Amino acid sequence: MKIQTKIAIQFSLIVGSLLAVFSFVIYQLFAEFRQQEYYDRLKSKAITTAQLLIKVDEIDRNLLKIIDKNTLTALVDEKVLVFNQHNKLFYSSLDDHVINYSKDLLNRVRKEKYVETNAGDNELVGLLYELNGHHYVILASAYDKFGRSKMANLRDILYTGLIVGIMLTILLGVFFAGNALGPVNQFISQISTITANNLRERLDERNEKDEIGQLAAAFNKMMYRLEQSFELQRSFVSHASHELRTPLAALKSEVEISLDENLNVAQHRGILQNIRKDIDRLIALSNSLLQIVRPLKSKINNTSEVRIDDVVFQAQDELLLSKPDYRISVEYAREPENEKHIIVLGDEPLLKTVFTNLMSNACKYSSNHLALVVIDFNETHTLVSIQDEGIGIPPEDFTAIFEPFYRSRNALTISGFGVGLSVCKKILELHQGKIHVKSKQGKGSIFTVELPHIS
Ligand code: ADP
Repeated sequence: MKIQTKIAIQFSLIVGSLLAVFSFVIYQLFAEFRQQEYYDRLKSKAITTAQLLIKVDEIDRNLLKIIDKNTLTALVDEKVLVFNQHNKLFYSSLDDHVINYSKDLLNRVRKEKYVETNAGDNELVGLLYELNGHHYVILASAYDKFGRSKMANLRDILYTGLIVGIMLTILLGVFFAGNALGPVNQFISQISTITANNLRERLDERNEKDEIGQLAAAFNKMMYRLEQSFELQRSFVSHASHELRTPLAALKSEVEISLDENLNVAQHRGILQNIRKDIDRLIALSNSLLQIVRPLKSKINNTSEVRIDDVVFQAQDELLLSKPDYRISVEYAREPENEKHIIVLGDEPLLKTVFTNLMSNACKYSSNHLALVVIDFNETHTLVSIQDEGIGIPPEDFTAIFEPFYRSRNALTISGFGVGLSVCKKILELHQGKIHVKSKQGKGSIFTVELPHIS
């Protein structure tokens, strides 16, 4: 069911029920008020009759009957009966005894002194009247014709009001729900046209303060991130294929040259050595591509407590094993009194990749192939800085070098794919860590890694 229909139904049900309860309460209160008012009229009628009949000697029963019948305020179907203490009818306003009364009723009046009840459709009041030690029971009954017709009128008005009210509520519910959800329908039709080719499409944010505006703004932000990540993937694929094409083209031409029958063994050997270099380059490239793809996952799988100095030493050992001409020295800025200051929660192999990449860059981009690693900490973070005295980085590239495949102009003569630093940054983000760079061209660079420790 559509939300618009749901809201309209719920709105109509709530307002309809309120209207029904309201109408019922009004009707009920009016009914009670009418009845009470009528009982009061009957009571004063009964008292007047008793006083005229019993107290005033000049008025006899026949005269009273005549007065009763001709009084202007006579009630519809009015009957007044007076009984003496032996329950004998002492006076009746009508000649026929059509008022319903029973011994029980008379006894109840004697007991309770005042009774309000019904006799068929008529209201009936009974009261005990005492004079000179004699107890008279007076019953007064009549039909509230005007009150009841007012009630019937009120009922009709309330019924009509209720039906019209419910119909109006349904119409208003449909209208307002449609109005409120109109922009959502517009979004749906706009969103359904978005494909990978038009990720630049944005929703109309209109009034940013209401929920619909906030939804559009959040959607637009998501679209921006999607667009960025699509862009990144596109440039990744184009860079990767470009990087692959160069060694593959070189391999092809080397193979073609080696097919020349006139080459001697030494020349063949030279070509094969070139082929081996290109294959090594291809392997290095595919390793870099794997590195960049692996941590692209949005969370780390194997988290454990990792001692950062252990990881740094492991990275140092592994790097020196594959590059024996590199020199890496590791120092502590100060002795950690609490080992928790250099323990972080994270994925050990991923963290090792970070330090291997940074140490390898430091050695690679400096003629003395020397990297100085310093381990330190502050209140919240473990800090590792990797320093070299190499070629340095142009200041305008400080941000760009962390983008995949970006390489500074001064580094182009040194082999590399521009992947390592972007991988480091991504891994550190997954660990809530950071990386900063300070560098001076021709003097050297210092990369600092910050990782939140467990203490
Ligand atoms: P690669 O070293 O394979 O090119 P990276 O992503 O590790 O890829 O580095 C990106 C770029 O940052 C490098 O091409 C280089 O221009 C610059 N760079 C990184 N580390 C250093 C460093 N220690 N000294 C000078 N330049 C560096």
